[in-house]
Amino acid sequence: MQFETLAIHDGQAPDPQTGSVTVPVYQTSTFERENLEHRGEFFYSRIGNPTRKALESTLALLENGRFGLAFASGVAASLAALQVLKPGDHIVAGLDIYGGSYRTFEQLMRPWGVNTSYAESESTESYEACITPETKLIWLETPSNPLLQLTDIRAISRIAKERGILVAVDNTFSSPYFQKPLDLGADIVVHSTTKYLGGHSDVIGGAVITSDTLLHTKIKNYQGAAGAIPAPWDSWLILRGLKTLKIRMKEHEASALYLAKFLEQHPAVEHVFYPGLTSHPQHKLAKQQMSGFGGMLTFALKGGLPAVEKFIARIKLFVLADSLGGVESLIASPAKMTLGPLSDEEKRRRKCTDNLVRLSIGLENAGDLEADLQNALSEG
Ligand SMILES: *Cc1c(COP(=O)(O)O)cnc(C)c1O
Repeated sequence: MQFETLAIHDGQAPDPQTGSVTVPVYQTSTFERENLEHRGEFFYSRIGNPTRKALESTLALLENGRFGLAFASGVAASLAALQVLKPGDHIVAGLDIYGGSYRTFEQLMRPWGVNTSYAESESTESYEACITPETKLIWLETPSNPLLQLTDIRAISRIAKERGILVAVDNTFSSPYFQKPLDLGADIVVHSTTKYLGGHSDVIGGAVITSDTLLHTKIKNYQGAAGAIPAPWDSWLILRGLKTLKIRMKEHEASALYLAKFLEQHPAVEHVFYPGLTSHPQHKLAKQQMSGFGGMLTFALKGGLPAVEKFIARIKLFVLADSLGGVESLIASPAKMTLGPLSDEEKRRRKCTDNLVRLSIGLENAGDLEADLQNALSEG
């Protein structure tokens, strides 16, 4: 069955007891046991809950994976995936990654004894060069945040497999509608379901998907032991978001491509980073490993930080906020906001200049968004 059919039907069949066409919110902490010897599938909601299970099954289906696990946030999901490692192991990650993942590597994993080296996100050779005998995991985020650089998932997975190294992909920016890392050879997919999967800026959540029984068992044990699980109601909200993922992603993408082209020809704009533009250095790779280019775009303004400040002060429809992937368009300054805590040196390494503006293109009319950008970019 096709993606949008799976998103609506499998994993969330009508409730057998009442016929309710949506999965009920099983707002319960515990479940009655038959007797001392026997219990049903569910007994305590930290370990398992039917609403969460429907979400986990649907997430697995959409990523073409065998197992899904839902978490209280994207960072909780990332940390859970990293539990397949042990002290002494080594990670190779992309340099241009979500700020919170960088924090997890540096502030949680490193003191625990797991060091991370950072490769140029767009260079397979750079990843290869960072591999040591201790490397057990390669962590990819593609397209990357905020520079929308791509990493060749298939090529990296091939290199990793030869050496017994796992590959995890943070697939938040693309969503499974546009990119399926497991099909390209990755072992683990991680999501912040807060973003496109939830899709309405009203819930925080995360997910880990894999087809490997051993990895799944390890991460599931950690989920139960560490306890960063999503509430039944939050699980339900994300399930609802998934049902419209396809039509939302198509619309996000169409508007993002339209606006990327508009910005690219505007005299106040120095550069536009969007994998759907033929000017993107990895446009060809984007067409190979993604079925669409997504709704995130970044651009560099001429005139540095003062130009960014003026632009943000003038923009009206785009909301100045840190998140992405919702129905409303958001605007952010990576240097000041999402990567604000990094040192100047770290920002320089990541090419995160202060003239960058990141846009999450929402579902408003593209012409209205264009007029808003045009007005904010105009002189006077
Ligand atoms: C937001 C985000 C995360 C973290 O997710 P939370 O739900 O905020 O914990 C991880 N990776 C990417 C790419 C993100 O955008």
